[in-house]
Amino acid sequence: MESRGAAGSDPFARKLLRWFDHHGRRDLPWQRDPTPYRVWVSEIMLQQTQVATVVPYFGRFMERFPTLQALAAAPLDEVLHLWTGLGYYARARNLHRAAGRVQAEYGGDLPEDIATLQALPGIGPSTAGAILALSKGRRHPILDGNVRRVLARYHGIAGWPGSPSVARSLWSLAEGHTPKRRVAAYTQAIMDLGATVCTPKRPRCTDCPVSRECTALDQGLAEQLPSPRPRRSLPVRRSLFLIIFDDAGMVLLERRPPAGLWGGLWCFPECAPETELDDWLLSRLGITAEVLRVAERMRHSFSHFHLDITPLHLRLKGSGRVAEQGVRRWYRPGALPDIGLAAPTLSLLRSLGP
Ligand code: SF4
Repeated sequence: MESRGAAGSDPFARKLLRWFDHHGRRDLPWQRDPTPYRVWVSEIMLQQTQVATVVPYFGRFMERFPTLQALAAAPLDEVLHLWTGLGYYARARNLHRAAGRVQAEYGGDLPEDIATLQALPGIGPSTAGAILALSKGRRHPILDGNVRRVLARYHGIAGWPGSPSVARSLWSLAEGHTPKRRVAAYTQAIMDLGATVCTPKRPRCTDCPVSRECTALDQGLAEQLPSPRPRRSLPVRRSLFLIIFDDAGMVLLERRPPAGLWGGLWCFPECAPETELDDWLLSRLGITAEVLRVAERMRHSFSHFHLDITPLHLRLKGSGRVAEQGVRRWYRPGALPDIGLAAPTLSLLRSLGP
């Protein structure tokens, strides 16, 4: 247990720790018995996700996988199932992969050397620092979203924190403030300050323990910092979604290949707008169909491009039937989904009604 009142001479850390002793969060499930494994799982779940959402997921996860060994031995499907609803599934896949490696290469104990820890899938410098600081009290800085915000405001650092020069400045400030003692409490304190007081919108500066020296508050810039990511204009691609109805009102869906856009999810058959449609339907699906109408265009944005989708409603002609063979199926709009559907397909299916 770390003793209180040992924050060193840095006023920022000292004030933060004093505040933490009265206002910090000390009853979060992963704070009870903060083993490296439990802290690791919580840190991964907390990436891009609020504490309130994570708490029940963490409880279920720990019940099923109480140890790293249990996680390493589990099938990935089971891990993904417990992750359903948390999103960002790469986190779960990396967690599972890293557990397997730790089991195979380090006898089941997470490495305590920060560089080795960082070499594991899904563990970046901040997560590695948090695991060692929170579970072992090792002096390592962290720089998650909350900490970036607090430090950018406190020191008045302009510029997008994702750019290398701003990130370097923030890491160096994070390193400078991290005390030699009470590291776990300090680490939790700065995360808590960002999550509960120095919030992205409307920070509660009047309740902030470091407000007197805060540059952003002094300059009236609290809500402007940290600077947002500079906007890039993204390229636009266009695509036709073919909504092919059969006589029974069912529509045709295709499963996408495992890699690439919407990998493994179900989608309407898709082709480029300039496609010669009759030929395409015959050669790809072995059918003929008549166009019923062109529906309103919709935009789906990815991180690197916008996809403008034109839904084209068609009716199957004659007795042609598509061979399903596990990659195609006829689907009743409005049915409860029991398959993974790409987001625009799901919203189009909903618009078709039951
Ligand atoms: Fe954040 Fe306001 Fe505290 Fe500055 S004074 S660190 S802006 S909460």
